[in-house]
Amino acid sequence: MNLKRPELKEEIEQAAAIISASRHLVALTGAGCSTESGIPDFRSSGGLWKKYDPAIYADYAYFLKDPSKHWELNLDLMPLLENAKPNNAHLALVELEKAGLLKALITQNIDNLHQKAGCHTIIELHGNYREASCLNCRQCYDLDEIRNLPLRPFPHCPRCQGIIKPKVVLFGEALDSNVLARAKNEVEKADVLLIIGTALEIFPAALLPQIAKQHGARLIIVNPERTKARGRSDIFLRGKAGEILPKILSHIKGK
Ligand code: NAD
Repeated sequence: MNLKRPELKEEIEQAAAIISASRHLVALTGAGCSTESGIPDFRSSGGLWKKYDPAIYADYAYFLKDPSKHWELNLDLMPLLENAKPNNAHLALVELEKAGLLKALITQNIDNLHQKAGCHTIIELHGNYREASCLNCRQCYDLDEIRNLPLRPFPHCPRCQGIIKPKVVLFGEALDSNVLARAKNEVEKADVLLIIGTALEIFPAALLPQIAKQHGARLIIVNPERTKARGRSDIFLRGKAGEILPKILSHIKGK
């Protein structure tokens, strides 16, 4: 990160001041929050969609026709997800929570890294790769139970032989309405929304900043790329989350 850019240093100080004075800080994270943990995002060069066509590997209608493709993606990614460690961005968010500033963390990520880091108030919009359920009888399974089943071409429910689906939201699949309602409620209460590592191109998650703004929140965006959402932000911190967030934290702690 080029902190020699005086405007970035100033913007980080401004962001720290806004966060310190906040009443209800909410964070919204996306795949970019985990790239520094070695998990590729969707759209960047080297992103997942360069290898896996989302219309085949991550589409709900396709899954119902042929679950094996999504399971192939899931099983390919599993060792990476299992071995990934939280990075400085995840850890800084935990510190903001411990300091009593961060009231809720809404994530589009399914990688479980906010939990691994020790964050408590997580709203997972798109689910978690460690959970699955049977599409027929709705029985839930965790990853450790799934691992004991025949996994290829895809696992079947031991109770009813139904198709087991990872509890991650696929394209064309509705979000859990309770989870979405909780997320909306948090952004409505927010006076500051910290948006980290998301292109904000997936709905309804992409509407959350707008809802926050309509309810008077200030938006702070952290992203190395100038995303479309930049125009809506009050402060746009151009850089990597794992570098920017610890700087913000240091200012808040007065170091
Ligand atoms: P996206 O791939 O569309 O966008 C990622 C954004 O993060 C980009 O704007 C990119 O510039 C930015 N970014 C990359 N590295 C960064 C860094 N070090 N610091 C800050 N920003 C960085 O991802 P999205 O907006 O989250 O939406 C796509 C969907 O991807 C979500 O639904 C999510 O479930 C899914 N996804 C999740 C994971 C994961 O769980 N880690 C990984 C890939 C995709």
